[in-house]
Amino acid sequence: RPRITFYGGARQLGGNQILVEDQGTRVFLDFGSNFDRMGRYYSFPFSPKKFNALKELTVLGIYPDFDAYPGFDGLYRPDYLRRIGREPAAKSIDGVVFSHAHLDHAAGLHFLRPDMDVYMDRYTKMLLYSMQETSNAPFNEFIDFTYAFEQAPKLREDGYTWLQGDVATVSRKINIIRPPEPFNIGNIKFEPFYVDHSLPGSCAFIIHTSAGIVAYTGDIRLRGRRKSDTENFIREAAARKPDYLLCEGSLIRKTHPGVEDDVVTHIADFVQDRTGLVVIIYPPRDLDRVTSLYKVAKQTGRKLVVDARQTFLLDLFDGELGYPKTTHKHIGVYMPRKNKGILDTEYPNQERDYQKWERAYIEHPNRVTTEDMKRNPNLYILCLSSSRVGDLVDIDPPEGSVYVRSHPEPYTEEMEIDEKILINWLEKFRLLRQGEQKDLFDTGAEYNIPQAHITGHMSFDDTRYLINGICPRFLCQYTLFIPKIFITCLAVK
Ligand SMILES: [Zn+2]
Repeated sequence: RPRITFYGGARQLGGNQILVEDQGTRVFLDFGSNFDRMGRYYSFPFSPKKFNALKELTVLGIYPDFDAYPGFDGLYRPDYLRRIGREPAAKSIDGVVFSHAHLDHAAGLHFLRPDMDVYMDRYTKMLLYSMQETSNAPFNEFIDFTYAFEQAPKLREDGYTWLQGDVATVSRKINIIRPPEPFNIGNIKFEPFYVDHSLPGSCAFIIHTSAGIVAYTGDIRLRGRRKSDTENFIREAAARKPDYLLCEGSLIRKTHPGVEDDVVTHIADFVQDRTGLVVIIYPPRDLDRVTSLYKVAKQTGRKLVVDARQTFLLDLFDGELGYPKTTHKHIGVYMPRKNKGILDTEYPNQERDYQKWERAYIEHPNRVTTEDMKRNPNLYILCLSSSRVGDLVDIDPPEGSVYVRSHPEPYTEEMEIDEKILINWLEKFRLLRQGEQKDLFDTGAEYNIPQAHITGHMSFDDTRYLINGICPRFLCQYTLFIPKIFITCLAVK
């Protein structure tokens, strides 16, 4: 009989690892990191030790434990397994299908063996590639796999040397899926469909097993610019009369104030006619949000100033899906001084202050510096990553400057602590004032910071609409926050 097992993601915040088994075929749907458990055991900047990472993370239950679940040795990377004293086993899983590039669905890719067949669409691959190339976080070999702890004989003398870089690197076996083209892994047929979520490339799947049809939503919403993709998935799924629906329910208890286009209207209204700098923090991989902020910049006659990482990602997309190009006149590429701080001085080798991938932006035609924003704050909307908040000392935004939070409110203790620190900075630099409007959607929510954000997930009503639209025989709603009354108001078992 086919079997579906939730190793992560059930009644938790993220960490989807759903094993589908049918007639000898075993496939994981997503292989994400469990934020709840991760946050319980690690606090930034601490993370597992590389040599022992697989042991730490499986013992803590962040990834499936090979002792608890025999056969999972054949899932993980052989270099890490050997380091913790285990011989790699034969490949025990036929493939891993990724619904999208959020880390609670995809972070575990780093720990998979390099010859594992993984399946993702090309936008997900682009997002994961940009994370691999530009993130300083550990464990992000999502596209290229570099053998760790491998040695080779030295060429000119006796002894061994650690293999590093290109000689130790192989490409992962990434199979690009092209929704709605179906694909097979062993005995299981998958039909992928693009859906709306807070980053591009998000897919839902209809899975054909020997015991019936399963629809898997991945992360999904109805309030973004690709709402019609979600509507299409609902129609396609309903037409197949699925037996089971695996449906996310991350935020069905939250109020969801509007749609993505409202973010543009409300921030533009808030920013219009202001003098001084506008500072915004937002989720950088949400390219629809970047597009919204770009529209605000256009409407208010400012430049949206994005950092090098965002520039790298936007350049990869190169205008696809209607996302802004970094060469457009309403985009600025922020190049703050780093390391020795010698950019634009008489010192040679200024590029060495930057990582290799960001050096190209030193000469970017739209480059914006800290000094530019200090001189003409009225011209800019600065997308500030929290790691660069100290740049406010040099920018010294004038009276009248404002801050807008365009990402979720903190939902963990750690995020609350981070936000307290951010508020100290904002107050110090006059970006947060008493009496200022805080809830830009005007829903009556009590925020401590001006906020305009919509989530990548579904409200209670959206979820009911989706489930009743698909009308499965059985509903399995995973993830946290399932209100008891929810099940009773549906026409499914
Ligand atoms: Zn997601």
